[in-house]
Amino acid sequence: MQGKAPGPTVLISALIHGNEICGAVALDHLLTSSFLPARGRLILAFANVDAYARFDSARPYLARFINEDMNRLWSADILGGRQKSAELTRARALRPLAEKADFLLDLHSTSLPAPAMLLSGAHKKGQAFARRMGYPSYVVADGGHSAGVRLRDFSDFGEPAGAKCAMLVECGQHFDSDSPTVALKTVMAFLLACGMIDDVPEDIPLLPRLGRQQFIEVSETVTIRSDRFTFSGEFQCFEIIPKAGTQIAEDGSHKILTPYDDCVLVMPARQPVRGHTAVRLGRFVAG
Ligand SMILES: [Zn+2]
Repeated sequence: MQGKAPGPTVLISALIHGNEICGAVALDHLLTSSFLPARGRLILAFANVDAYARFDSARPYLARFINEDMNRLWSADILGGRQKSAELTRARALRPLAEKADFLLDLHSTSLPAPAMLLSGAHKKGQAFARRMGYPSYVVADGGHSAGVRLRDFSDFGEPAGAKCAMLVECGQHFDSDSPTVALKTVMAFLLACGMIDDVPEDIPLLPRLGRQQFIEVSETVTIRSDRFTFSGEFQCFEIIPKAGTQIAEDGSHKILTPYDDCVLVMPARQPVRGHTAVRLGRFVAG
């Protein structure tokens, strides 16, 4: 979509994970309504459409990907390498769009119920951009996964300096009926912050007034090392563990303890899998 006036190139992607449909619903709304940006060029990408095509409501978690997680492939080495998979083929096709974009928003949802949150990346520029967006109210600064680079951290988006900026948004649980609305509101907050639009179209639910955002800085990502990983409790997201040294999980014979007081648990895994992220540990910080 091309605005009348010159402006930034913005890429918004949905379905990087094939069963996270809220983003696709939001992009479909933009395509089927009379939406046009005021300035700049807006690119909408439905990423892992092959995985989405396999979506079966009886087994909704299986459509996340076909061969591998498409959100762990975004390093020059992997994209330019010789490995092959359904997701790499698609990521390589999308790469020029990601390279062209000045701003990138990647729409996701969570396996477990969790409040909507922006993942602003490891650098201050991400937090500053999230502040400009003002929505949703939780902002998590983290560096990603040891299993591979996310689209939001691809190339210049992952660098501390430079004007290029990316956001990942988790819009709530995959199948929560509110998640598509959260996705659409986040798209609007993002386009306003990019300077691509001046107003939210009338057919889109109003954004809440800019309120107090809550910022969490992730200090470490716990990666699962064994096939015997269990959490010590039924964690969902944003639990605050008051005392340092509290056991939160066991990974084989290794106990996982909180490293400091008031440690916040961010997005614990629904089903622990060796090599994947179990949970991120962080702290609330002043916005
Ligand atoms: Zn996702």
